[in-house]
Amino acid sequence: MSVQVTREVFDEVMVPNYAPAKIIPVRGAGSRVWDQEGREYVDFAAGIAVSGLGHCHPKLVEALKTQGEQLWHLSNVMTNEPALRLAKKLVAATFAEKIYFCNSGAEANEAALKLARRYAIDTYGAHKTQIIAFTQAFHGRTFFTVSVGGQACYSDGFGPKPGDITHVPYNDLAALEAVISDNTCAVVMEPLQGEGGIISPTDEFAKGVRALCDKHKALLVFDEVQSGMGRTGELFAYMGLGVTPDILTSAKALGGGFPIGAMLTTTAIAAHFKVGTHGSTYGGNPLACAVAEAVLDIINTPQVLAGVKQREQLIRQGLEAINAKYHCFSEVRGKGLLLGAVLNEDFKGRSRDFLLAAIDQGLLVLVAGASVVRFAPSLIVPEEDIREGLARFEKAVAQVVGA
Ligand SMILES: *Cc1c(COP(=O)(O)O)cnc(C)c1O
Repeated sequence: MSVQVTREVFDEVMVPNYAPAKIIPVRGAGSRVWDQEGREYVDFAAGIAVSGLGHCHPKLVEALKTQGEQLWHLSNVMTNEPALRLAKKLVAATFAEKIYFCNSGAEANEAALKLARRYAIDTYGAHKTQIIAFTQAFHGRTFFTVSVGGQACYSDGFGPKPGDITHVPYNDLAALEAVISDNTCAVVMEPLQGEGGIISPTDEFAKGVRALCDKHKALLVFDEVQSGMGRTGELFAYMGLGVTPDILTSAKALGGGFPIGAMLTTTAIAAHFKVGTHGSTYGGNPLACAVAEAVLDIINTPQVLAGVKQREQLIRQGLEAINAKYHCFSEVRGKGLLLGAVLNEDFKGRSRDFLLAAIDQGLLVLVAGASVVRFAPSLIVPEEDIREGLARFEKAVAQVVGA
C-alpha cells in the first residue's frame, strides 16, 4: 500500500530537530530539481556541498546499479574490491598512505580525533591530550566532534563534554601560539571554514599553524569534509594552500550523494589504530565505495577541476552585478564553488530571508550562519544553469530588498 505524504507529515512523525522547507523534491537531474507539484528549481545547494556531480549523474547511476547487482555489504570481517580500489586511488591522489572508511563527516572526524589522541599518548605519554580547534568551526554532531567544533549552540545542554579541548579564533596565529604547547596532541581546522561563514585562511595563518604543530609535535588535522573533493578547484583544499596535514577527513561530496566518509593519514600515524581499536559496521561498504570510486574518477581530472575555477568567475561576476544594483552584500568570499555572499549592515541576520525568497523564485541556495548566503552548486553545473540560477537569485534579492 502506498502512503500519500505531504510536508505536514514531517511535523506528525519526525523528531523535530530539523525545520525543512515547505517543498518536497521528488526528482533531480544535473543541477535541476523538481518538487511534488512539478515545480522546477535550479540547485545551487547540492545537498550541502554533497552532490558534487549534480543529481543522478549517469556514471554514478551506472556504478550504483552495477555494484547493486553484485554485492551490497560484507562488514569488516572481510575486505572488498571497491573499498580497496577506492583506497588505492585516494592514496595515489594525495599525501596519504593509509585510508579508513566510515559513513559520514562526523565519523571521519571522530576517527581522526581518536587516532590523534591514541598516537600522542602512545608516542609521548598520557599528558599529551590537548586538542586545539577554532571558533566557528564545524566538525559534525557526535559528542566529541561537536565539542571540538567551536559553536556552543550545538554542543551545550548535553551534560559533561569530552575534555581538554581549547578554542581560539581562526586566522589568529598569536592566539594559537599562546595556547599550544608540548601537551597539545592535535590542531584541527577546516582549510576553508564552511558552516562558520565561508572563511578562508590567510597564507600566513595556514603555514604558521603547520609550523607551530611541528614545533610542538602536534598533529595537524584538516577537516576537508566540505572543502574537499574538488570544491575549491583542487582535489583537496590543502593542495592549494601548500600545507600538508597529518590527517585529512573527507565525506560530503566523496560519495556524490551516497553516504561515505574517509580518514586519510600516513603509515606511521595509522599504525596506532591496531586491530580492534576502532571500527564501523558499514565502513568501506561496497556500494558506497563503488559510487565514490566513480565520483573520484570524474572529479580528479584537469577538466573538472579547471571548470570549477571558471564557474567560480561566472558566479562571482553575477553576484557583483546583482550587488551593484541592490547593495546588499559587503563582499563575496570563499574559493572555487564554495562561495559566500556576506550581507551588509542593512541586511545583517537575514540570510534565511534570502534562502526562502530564492525558493519562491525556483532556486535552492544555502546559508552559512545568519548573515552569509552560501553557494555550493555541482562542480559541473552547466553555464546555462548558472545564468538561470543567477537570474532567479536576482529576483529573490529584489523580493527581499523591496520588502
Ligand atoms: C558537514 C560537515 C561535517 C559533518 O559531516 P556529517 O556527514 O554531517 O557528519 C564535518 N565537518 C565539516 C567541515 C562539514 O562541513
